[in-house]
Amino acid sequence: MPIVNRSPMPKENKTPSLEDSLQFVKGVGPKRVLLLKKLGLETIDDALHFLPFRYEDRSQVKTISQLNVGEAVTLAGSITSAGSMRAGHRKKIFEVIVQDETGFVSAKWFQFNEKYMTGKFEVGNAIVLSGTPVNSRYSGSGIEFVHPDVETSSSDKDALEMGQILPVYRTTEGLPVKSMRAIMRQVVEHYADRVEEFLPAHILQANHFPKRSQAFRDAHLPPKGSDIKALESFQSPAQARLIYEELFLIQLGLASRKKLRSFRQTGNPLKTRGELVKDLVKQLPFELTNAQKRVLKEIMEDLEQPHPMNRLLQGDVGSGKTVVALTSLLTAVDNGMQAALMAPTELLCEQHYASLSPYCERLGISIALLTGAGKAKDRARIQENISQGNTQLIVGTHALIQKGVDFNNLGLIVVDEQHRFGVLQREAIGKKGKAPHALIMTATPIPRSLSLTLYGDLSVSYLDESPPGRQPIQTRIFYDKKRMQAYELLSKEIAKGRQAYIVCPLIEESEKMELKAATETLEFIKTTFPDLKAELIHGRMKREERQDVMARFLEGSIQILVATTVIEVGIDVPNASLMIVEHAERFGLSQLHQLRGRVGRGRHLSHCMLIAYFPLSEEGKLRLEAMKNFTDGFAIAEEDLKIRGPGDFMGTRQSGIPLLRVANLLRDFKWLTLAREEATRLIEADPQLQESKHIKLKQALQNTMGDKLDLMAII
Ligand code: ADP
Ligand code: MG
Repeated sequence: MPIVNRSPMPKENKTPSLEDSLQFVKGVGPKRVLLLKKLGLETIDDALHFLPFRYEDRSQVKTISQLNVGEAVTLAGSITSAGSMRAGHRKKIFEVIVQDETGFVSAKWFQFNEKYMTGKFEVGNAIVLSGTPVNSRYSGSGIEFVHPDVETSSSDKDALEMGQILPVYRTTEGLPVKSMRAIMRQVVEHYADRVEEFLPAHILQANHFPKRSQAFRDAHLPPKGSDIKALESFQSPAQARLIYEELFLIQLGLASRKKLRSFRQTGNPLKTRGELVKDLVKQLPFELTNAQKRVLKEIMEDLEQPHPMNRLLQGDVGSGKTVVALTSLLTAVDNGMQAALMAPTELLCEQHYASLSPYCERLGISIALLTGAGKAKDRARIQENISQGNTQLIVGTHALIQKGVDFNNLGLIVVDEQHRFGVLQREAIGKKGKAPHALIMTATPIPRSLSLTLYGDLSVSYLDESPPGRQPIQTRIFYDKKRMQAYELLSKEIAKGRQAYIVCPLIEESEKMELKAATETLEFIKTTFPDLKAELIHGRMKREERQDVMARFLEGSIQILVATTVIEVGIDVPNASLMIVEHAERFGLSQLHQLRGRVGRGRHLSHCMLIAYFPLSEEGKLRLEAMKNFTDGFAIAEEDLKIRGPGDFMGTRQSGIPLLRVANLLRDFKWLTLAREEATRLIEADPQLQESKHIKLKQALQNTMGDKLDLMAII
C-alpha cells in the first residue's frame, strides 16, 4: 500500500514567512527536519534565534614559518603526503604533511579510521588546519599538530571559509557541525531581512544596538573584523541586542500586567492592626523577629491600598512565614471578610489546619479544611459553609481555586510554597471573589535574576532572618558502604531524646515503588534498632491515618518517621533534629534543601545525613557538595542555577513564562535589569501601548507573550 505523505508546499509558490517550517530550507529533507526538531528547531524563527554558542576564528591565518608551540592558529596549505605508519609495537599513526609558501608541518592522529582518513586527505588538495602546535614527539625537533581540526577541499582555499569567523552551533548526532552551519547560513541569508524591527528607536540609540535583521546576520555570520572576544562572551552589539529584546518583551509583559491590574481592579482597602491581630500577637509564644515585623509592615501598607496586594514573600525554610501568613489572614477576618490559605499538599494543609485551629478557637473564629480528600458529602457541606460566609478562615489545596468553590467575600488569599504552583494558577486566584489581596510565599529561594522574570509583576518582601537560637545544620555525606555510620549516629541522637526523619528514595516512575522502598526501610529500622519506635508516612495513606501518625510524631511518641517525599514541604516538628535522606543523589538541589529544612527548627543542633550510592553522575556529585558547603537557601539556588543551567531551572518550564532562547539569566543579568527599568518606564508612559510608535512592539509582545500571560485584554 502506498504511504501518502503530506508533502510540503512547492518552494516557489510560497511567500516565505518566519513561521515556515525548516523543511522549506534548501538542504533540509525529512530526515534533517527530525534532527532539527531534536534541537528544538521547527520554524525559521526558531532557527534565527538559535545563536552560535561559540565562534571559530579563522581570520587570524598564519603561515607555517610563524607557528609557535602552544599558540592556537589556523593555517592554510596543501597536502603533500598522507598515510599511516607504525610507531612502536602496535600503535599506528596517521600523518599528513602540509605545505605552504613558507614551509612544511606535520599533523598527526593516534586514533583514526584508516579508510575514512585516506579518503579525506588526498595529496594535492587544499587544507585548512586549526589547532595548537606542540613539540614533535618523535622527530625530536620541530613542531607538529596532534588531532587538529581540519577541513579539506579539492577546489581552492576560499571554499574553506578562510579568513572568516565561523559560527559553531550546538548540534545533535547525525547532523555534523558543517551541515548545521550550512543550514543556518541558508536561513540567515534568506530570512534575516524579513524580520521586522520592533524596538523603539530611542532604545536602539541609547544602547548602540544594530537593527534587528542586522543583529541576526551579525550574530550568525560575524563580518570580517568582528571582535572575537566580544562574540565569545556574548557581548557583541548584535548578540546584546537580541538578548535585550528577549528580556525586554518579558519585562514589558509583566509590567503591563501589573499596570493593568491596578487599573482594572478596585480592591478592598483593609483596616489593619485590628482586634484579632492584636490578640494573636499576645498569644504567640515568641517575640516576632525584626524581619517578620518589617515584612508585616510592608504587607499591612499594601492591604490598606484601594487596589489588591500582590506580594511575594521569600523566606528560607524555617524563617517563620506561617505567623506572617496568619497575621495577614486575620487582618481580613478583622474586616469582616473571609481569608484563605492555600498549600500544595494535603499533608501540609492538614498541618496548617492543625496548627492554626487552636489560635482560631481561642480567638473565636471559624476555620475549615478543604482538600480533594474526604467524603464528597463533607466537602459539599464545607463548600456550602464557605459560600454562605459561615466559615471565616479556609485552609486548602488548589481545590480552593477550582470551580465549584464560591467564597462569600474573600478578602485575602495566602499561597504557601508558591514554587509548587505556576504563574497561571496564580492568575486563577485573582479571579476568585472580588479581587482579593494575595500574598504568595515561597521557601525555595530563587536567584534574583530568575525571580525578576518569574515574578516580575509582584512586589517582593524578604524574610531574611531566622528566629533566634537556631544553629546551623550539620550536613554530611555518606557513600554507599558507609551508610551504617549514618544510622549509628541516628540511634545515638535518638537516645538523647531527639526525633528523626528518614526520607526514602525518590522513584520518578512510580509512587508504588517509592512506597515499597519506604516499607523496606521501615523493616530495616525495626530489625536493626528494635527498641526504637518507627512508623511510616506516605501520600497514599488515608487522611485519618496520616493525621494520627503526624500527631504522634509531634507529641514525641514516634521517634523515627520513615517518609516518602510527602514531607518535603512545610512540615514543622521542632524536636526533630535528624534527617537521613536515602539515595540523596536522586534528588534535586532545591528538594534536598527543602528536606533538610525539616530539621534545624528548634534549639537543638541538627544533622542532615545524605546517603548516596554509586554510580554517581557528575551533577549528582556537585549537588551533594553544594548541600555540604552551603546552608543559605539563596546560595543553594545560585548553585542550582549554575549546575542545571537556567533553561532547566525549577519552575521555569511550567511557569508560563516563555523559555529563553537567546538570553541567559546568569550571564545577562545586566541586560535584565536595564530591560526591566525601560519596560516599566515605557508602560508608565503608554500603559496600553497605543501610541503609533509602539505598534510593532505591541504586536511582538502579543506574538511572544499573548497566550501566556492573558494580555489579550489590553492588546
Ligand atoms: P517556614 O518559613 O518554613 O514556613 P515556619 O513558619 O513553619 O517556617 O516556622 C518555623 C518554626 O519557627 C515554627 O516552629 C515556628 O513556630 C517558629 N517561629 C516562627 N517565628 C518565630 C519567632 N519569631 N521566634 C521563635 N520561633 C519562631
Ligand atoms: Mg512553611
